[in-house]
Amino acid sequence: MSTVTNRSVYATVRQQFDKAADLMNLDPPIRKILSKTTNEIVVNFPVKMDNGNIEMFTGYRVQHNNVLGPYKGGLRYHPSVDIDEVRALATWMTWKCAIAGLPLGGAKGGIQIDPRKYSQSEIERITRRFTFALGSNIGPEYDIPAPDVNTNAQIMAWILDTYLQMMPPQERNRSTHVVTGKPIQSGGSVGREKATGQGVVYVIEMWAQDNAVDLSEITYCVQGFGNVGSWAARLMKMHGARLVAVEDATGAIHNPEGIDPDDLTAYVQEYGGLAGYPQGQPVDHPTFLSTTADIFVPAALENQITAQTAPLLNVRLVVEGANGPTDIEGDAILQQRGIELLPDILCNAGGVIVSYFEWLQNKRSEYWDLDEVDHKLHKKMRAAYASVRDTAHEYSTDLRTAAYIVALTRLEKVYKERGIFP
Ligand code: NAD
Repeated sequence: MSTVTNRSVYATVRQQFDKAADLMNLDPPIRKILSKTTNEIVVNFPVKMDNGNIEMFTGYRVQHNNVLGPYKGGLRYHPSVDIDEVRALATWMTWKCAIAGLPLGGAKGGIQIDPRKYSQSEIERITRRFTFALGSNIGPEYDIPAPDVNTNAQIMAWILDTYLQMMPPQERNRSTHVVTGKPIQSGGSVGREKATGQGVVYVIEMWAQDNAVDLSEITYCVQGFGNVGSWAARLMKMHGARLVAVEDATGAIHNPEGIDPDDLTAYVQEYGGLAGYPQGQPVDHPTFLSTTADIFVPAALENQITAQTAPLLNVRLVVEGANGPTDIEGDAILQQRGIELLPDILCNAGGVIVSYFEWLQNKRSEYWDLDEVDHKLHKKMRAAYASVRDTAHEYSTDLRTAAYIVALTRLEKVYKERGIFP
């Protein structure tokens, strides 16, 4: 298990933004607008615990920009959630939706808690009370939350139900698109659960094609074996790629012969983490990071690839499944060492793309099948990947800066067309 450094992730976002804005010569007034968040909502609310005591919780929702469409972004339940982290994650959502060509803006939120310390019924009450506290700051045509770290379809169902209770009865059936990532029976989309991991794998496939790499011959490691990491690994298995090391919050394991992602997923579901998994040798964090492999997929938290850890990596390619796993110094070291990096705002866009499909299905009262969802996801990921790759060539820059330029170019056009009120 890694330790999370305190480096400001919002400072990272601003430096990444400045680099791209300088290179593309972003229009100065638009640069001013995009370097700020639009709304920052902080709510403190009481919840009754199972033992009858009352505890206070702090929840956040930051809305960065909605010029392209309603605010969109996940909710995270984690002790590291604070205003700095949520600002950064909201800003990344704006770029991500712009790169993916979605009519959506960027937001993010969460509660500063360690969910492992609470019972299911406490988590339900915390979720419902947070939704109530957010009130009309979220809405199906205004700001649409989704799952992120430590939140899932069940939590989305509680948010949906609470939100609908606050609506007049006549409005309820037209408001199910207030959250995405819902359980299928409650209006969720097939393919949403695996969507982020699927998008990561589509990007790896496109990279492999560009670089004439045969995925059946490669090895890879994954950090974080939750939604994104486990799905990415299970889908990589279909290519015959070999998973040689995995780390989560409970520890890390290594097996040069290969770890079966489906078997590990079943184990993690049963035991809550990979600690004790018998088909791998337990290793410490630096050993995990030093594993020799072709690809490293960070799919846990921010600030994992840093000045201290980037020199340890022994891979050819980093594919960012998590948001912000690489800080500014880490990025520079990877570049010096010739390790390629496919950036988060491209690689993990599959989640928000299928969330957008879910939102559309709810609005139209439709159910799409998995082939349709996957086909449309593939098309969007392909277009996003191609525009980022081509922009990197055009500006002779790295893929992260290119991804920013793709996003900022789209946003700049819209601001120029619409002008600034009044
Ligand atoms: P999750 O809660 O399902 O899984 C998180 C995983 O990270 C778990 O395996 C956990 O044990 C591990 N982890 C936590 N702390 C760790 C530590 N200190 N060291 C090593 N591992 C640790 O979350 P998720 O939804 O898979 O999200 C993972 C990342 O992907 C986050 O950065 C999230 O913002 C990003 N992301 C998620 C989605 C989505 O659709 N869920 C979409 C886009 C981006």
